[in-house]
Amino acid sequence: MAEETDCLFCKIAEGQVPSTKVYEDDTVYAFKDINPMSEVHVLVIPKKHYPNAAAVAAADPQLLAHIVETAQKIADDQCDGAYHLLFNTGAAAGQTVFHCHAHVLGGRPDPAKLAGALA
Ligand code: 5GP
Ligand code: ZN
Repeated sequence: MAEETDCLFCKIAEGQVPSTKVYEDDTVYAFKDINPMSEVHVLVIPKKHYPNAAAVAAADPQLLAHIVETAQKIADDQCDGAYHLLFNTGAAAGQTVFHCHAHVLGGRPDPAKLAGALA
């Protein structure tokens, strides 16, 4: 389903790069962030490659809604439904992987890492 050959998160969605799966269905994949900023730090990605959340919104609004719905479900399971939902967009704002991903951040934060991520 994913199509960018050189994209890390396409490879993760296809299982070519290992990850700790949290949730999966036909259109989205969720996995633990390798460098958590918070007790709960899960990334939710569309299986199809889009560079950022706005591109998903423009091409397939239902898919963006499904990403948000998936984030809520994960937070309901892992941190009583309370969470931050973060889409870094653009290198200057800290985006390092240019495949849309929602950070689901809940539970006890790591203040230093969280501050660094937003700096
Ligand atoms: P960004 O900075 O683009 O918003 O977020 C990218 C996120 O992907 C970072 O929080 C980073 O820790 C995470 N990440 C980068 N490479 C990997 C990887 O190979 N596996 C996992 N599970 N997370 C990764
Ligand atoms: Zn991709």
